[in-house]
Amino acid sequence: MLDPNSLPTVYEPKNVEQKWYSFWLSKKYFHAEVDFSRPRYCITIPPPNVTGSLHIGHALCYTIQDVLTRWKRMQGYNTLCLPGTDHAGIATQNKVEQQLAEEGLTRHDLGREEFLKRVWAWRDKYGSEILNQFKRMGFSFDWDRERFTMDDDYVDAVLEAFIRLFNKGYIYRGTRVINWCPRCHTAISDIEVEYVEQASHLWYIRYPYEDGSGHVVVATTRPETMLGDTAVAVNPNDPRYKAVVGKSVLLPLVNRVIPIIADEFVDPDFGTGAVKVTPAHDPNDFEIGLRHNLPQIVVIGQQAQMTQDAGERYQGLDRFTARTRVVEDLEAHGLIEKIEDYVHSVGTCARCDTIIEPLLSEQWFCRMKELAKPAIDVVREGLIKFYPDRYARTYVEWLENVRDWCISRQLWWGHRIPVWKCEDCGEYTAAKTNVEACSKCGSPKVQQEEDVLDTWFSSALWPFATLGWPKQTPELEYFYPTDVLVTARDIIYLWVARMVFSSLEYLGKIPFHDVYIYATVLNEEGKRMSKSLGTGVDPLEAIEQFGADALRFALIQQTGKTQDIRFSDRRVELARNFANKIWNAARFVIMNLDGWEQSSLRDICITALEDRWILSSLNRTVETVNTALSNYDMDDAARALYEFLWGEFCDWYVEFSKPRLRSSAQEKHAVQTVLYHVLETTSRLLHPIMPFITEEIWQALPHEGESIMVAPFPVADQSFIDESVEKTMARVMEAVRAQRDLKAAAGLTLRKVVEVLYQADSPDLHDTQARILIERGAGTVVTYVDSPPADSEKYLVQTVADVGTFYLRAPEVDREKERARIMAELESVRRDLARSQAKLANEQFLSRAPSHVVEKERRIAAELQAKSAKLEEQLAALGS
Ligand SMILES: [Zn+2]
Ligand SMILES: [Zn+2]
Repeated sequence: MLDPNSLPTVYEPKNVEQKWYSFWLSKKYFHAEVDFSRPRYCITIPPPNVTGSLHIGHALCYTIQDVLTRWKRMQGYNTLCLPGTDHAGIATQNKVEQQLAEEGLTRHDLGREEFLKRVWAWRDKYGSEILNQFKRMGFSFDWDRERFTMDDDYVDAVLEAFIRLFNKGYIYRGTRVINWCPRCHTAISDIEVEYVEQASHLWYIRYPYEDGSGHVVVATTRPETMLGDTAVAVNPNDPRYKAVVGKSVLLPLVNRVIPIIADEFVDPDFGTGAVKVTPAHDPNDFEIGLRHNLPQIVVIGQQAQMTQDAGERYQGLDRFTARTRVVEDLEAHGLIEKIEDYVHSVGTCARCDTIIEPLLSEQWFCRMKELAKPAIDVVREGLIKFYPDRYARTYVEWLENVRDWCISRQLWWGHRIPVWKCEDCGEYTAAKTNVEACSKCGSPKVQQEEDVLDTWFSSALWPFATLGWPKQTPELEYFYPTDVLVTARDIIYLWVARMVFSSLEYLGKIPFHDVYIYATVLNEEGKRMSKSLGTGVDPLEAIEQFGADALRFALIQQTGKTQDIRFSDRRVELARNFANKIWNAARFVIMNLDGWEQSSLRDICITALEDRWILSSLNRTVETVNTALSNYDMDDAARALYEFLWGEFCDWYVEFSKPRLRSSAQEKHAVQTVLYHVLETTSRLLHPIMPFITEEIWQALPHEGESIMVAPFPVADQSFIDESVEKTMARVMEAVRAQRDLKAAAGLTLRKVVEVLYQADSPDLHDTQARILIERGAGTVVTYVDSPPADSEKYLVQTVADVGTFYLRAPEVDREKERARIMAELESVRRDLARSQAKLANEQFLSRAPSHVVEKERRIAAELQAKSAKLEEQLAALGS
């Protein structure tokens, strides 16, 4: 019946993974149909950018979702995990513009329509790359329901959402300071701005008082913007400037009279405590300007060149050339007080590295006040829960202080804003289809807005637009609201909050019940992984080397409630070793099931201590895993599985079982049944995290059903859980370890069976079953004694609290040699320890070395300390 060769001696993930993924696909296990008679579980995955390529953050994010999905599916839920991609306006447009640049073309050479054809062609060719990489991770997403934010139905949802807000009066044209990329020629969102440390200067400029009574000095990193200054600001509580608030200064080079104002925003510790205010070119100055009714003068244009308002001498200059000229001119007038070297963060475009220009610009905005309130309420009332819950505060605080949302982008790739402006009366008309005439005056001279919507405007609709909204589909009725959103903390505002208020606004429902924010994956040094720098783990390489299961397990094992996790290939390698350990245990079990008459645990009499123990521990593990997954404590689930499978099943139970497999037919049958049951159950228990190896093992075992992924998820059977058995067994294992240590100290191999005297602490250790294991585990024959042997100096001694004391007759001849050996080792350990301790006592080392180096040194010292204590103990055991 069972082929002992059905599992090869070495686990080869590559063959196994491809085979089972194709099998699952062919069986349509990932696909979910609406079925109102069944409970459902739904996740709409965060759509990766269509330009994306799998990085370690993705690997963690989507593994978590696949673990939850597989777990729920096995629990009998009708499970939908819906995949798709985001059109990623700016990123995708840039890719195609780069292609064009190689041909010496710009998008303007092609025109909007032709350019968009090129983008679609790019998307058709490269846009599925990341989804194919997801398949290599083993994700059980419903590929039949894949969505794209530029699909016709999705576009319809975006237009519908826009028009509803427009008709409610929530969408308006406004002028604000936005992040402008002079190269990409578009407004970009805060998250697309990357801050880079740059060595520059802080220029101290004298602004003369208008009344000739001296000057005030302001410090700035961007002197060219002074041409657009409309005030100087100081902090109202700054005593140095109390007297000058309300006075005016004459703006140098421009000769504009501007006021000195007081505003709480000004940091008295920056520069001189007096700052220039340029409302058109700095978001904070813009806010100050609104508070004090200051004019906004645009001196830098969209090409990052100085405008007419910058004055004739500077007009047309590039912003950095203008900087040099402004500084020269100020110096010529004796208006530079001093110039300091200054390192500061400069915002750059995440796509093209160009330095961002904060720019006053006319854009489309969405009013946030009304939308934010219900989105705050649902979190406050606990209808949406954050895991870890500290992120609820982040979310609420942001929404409480939210500014209106700039929703327009000056791109071609995206959802073109469905608004037509009348050339005659200036009225805006919004519609899903082409507008022929102005809705106010009927004029046919209408022009559609050139801008597209912010990509987050469309992704805010993801959970419901993917299920068919605005149509009332059965999918929407059945699968919505979805169950959980799994995402990174840096898009709580940009995305999570926007999905919540969008869903509440359009559907009157929350989009999901739970939000699980996973940790950021850093490298071993605690730095961000960078694909371009080659620092960090490349998930595809890790899969290639160690297998997808190993990568998935390593990630789940690491992710906890902390903000960040440190990760390296080493972690994946250790998880691969775990896979091999399971594999070897599985092979052992399968080879020993030869001739086994398939039986359930109910068919056998479970009396052996180790059987009762392993079944108790198994059911406890089942309970832990289910609880951990329910609470999104993914790491606890992985840890429990690891400890049970490796630490208990492989290291102890399998070893204890070996002699019994050669014992009486009844004994053999019992142990076979337990081995089978534990392996089969843990395969199912581990399946959500390590889907491939568990399917391979499960298929090689006697089983019911087609696939492990649709087999039932284990439920703990409380009747097996027995705390006293677990306690006894823990002491038995301690007893075995103590005897093994004794044998090692005596220079004996584990196989060499020797006699040991045992003064046991606890009555359960006198029990025959316990005694068998104590002997079997250590290769000893135990004689129980009530007191130490009379000639105790001739014994090696090992005492364990709660377990007792073991005496092993010391081999006479080797004693002197042994003592010399231990002494030599002890001396060397002590030397190393002294060196390490000296290092740790060195203030310079402690203050200068990176924290992980200090940590490592502390670990080394602790290990040496322990080692030295152990050797001393062994020495004492040898007697004097
Ligand atoms: Zn750019
Ligand atoms: Zn009109």
